[in-house]
Amino acid sequence: MIDVATGVAGPNEAAWGRAVDLLCAAKTVVLACHIGPDGDALGSMLSLGLALERLGTDVVCSWGSETLVLPATYAGLLPGQHLLRPPAEVPQVPDCLVALDTASLDRLGLLAPLTGTAKETLVIDHHATNTHFGTFELVDPSSAATAVLVAELIQRLGVTLDAELAVGLYVGITTDTGSFRFSATTPDVHRLAAQLLATGIRHDEIARAIYDTHDFGYVKLLGEALSRASLERDAVGGRGLVWTYTTADEMTGHGLRMDQIEGIIDGVRVTAQAEVAVLLKGDLDGTYKVSTRSKGAIDMSLICGQFHGGGHRFAAGFTAHGSVDETMAQLRAALSAAVPLSG
Ligand code: AMP
Ligand code: MN
Ligand code: MN
Repeated sequence: MIDVATGVAGPNEAAWGRAVDLLCAAKTVVLACHIGPDGDALGSMLSLGLALERLGTDVVCSWGSETLVLPATYAGLLPGQHLLRPPAEVPQVPDCLVALDTASLDRLGLLAPLTGTAKETLVIDHHATNTHFGTFELVDPSSAATAVLVAELIQRLGVTLDAELAVGLYVGITTDTGSFRFSATTPDVHRLAAQLLATGIRHDEIARAIYDTHDFGYVKLLGEALSRASLERDAVGGRGLVWTYTTADEMTGHGLRMDQIEGIIDGVRVTAQAEVAVLLKGDLDGTYKVSTRSKGAIDMSLICGQFHGGGHRFAAGFTAHGSVDETMAQLRAALSAAVPLSG
């Protein structure tokens, strides 16, 4: 049965109740987040994993890459890493698979087939582009982070939100709100953050680790990427486009991995003359991972959807198989045809 209970208001009481009943009844649970996991994916997953472990559930956490290499930032921060298993080691017929922060089946990578063998699949997500691939779901596109939904779920499961659980949730919220700056940061998000801080977590250490700590190679690559940034004032119907790229050779030459260069887009998107910012990151498999941001006039999830990607309205991405020039030509065309959001 597909239980779709979405909309601007978020999950209703019945959807919350069904999710709680499902998780309380499940003896074996696999938690999975999207491939190339970020702070929200990992923080939400591990916090829910710890909460279920406390309830006596047989729970493991994973994502769909052959080997699990946690981004260094999060490896040093997040409790619950003892729950992590590579896809080959997760139970193949769990009572429940929970997909977190994952908009579509392909983003589960190697774990996608588990949706066919798990008895139930619960999708917990906040992407506008969610494809509703579960048998149950808690999906709220207005939610600032998947961690916001998980915080509510943990409390509805009757588990106390203490410091151990709060770290992952705070990491998810701070990363997906750009440190409480993006538009989805509501009074309720601040109230939840206050509740998490009251557990005694060190938000200053979390913020320094996430935003203010980088390998020296990152500093050099950031400089190279910024020095060749292009500003196209006439693009996006005259609203302006700023873009740049990094290559796989540069990344490896500086001793970096993909998860260490996520922040470069933040250096580009500050450009006052551009509504849209784009960064193409060359990956080891020959593709480019494309990050896009807008300041509010252009729905980037619709643009990236045209390239088989997705995300949120003002932060979205896709994987490009062509060259930098080919990809930028296609993006320019899509952006010039985009209908600006009103209001
Ligand atoms: P990023 O630019 O990698 O920080 O991603 C911004 C947003 O777009 C995140 O919410 C991602 O989940 C989403 N996103 C990035 N790449 C893809 C992709 N290939 N397919 C679907 N969503 C994506
Ligand atoms: Mn994510
Ligand atoms: Mn998220």
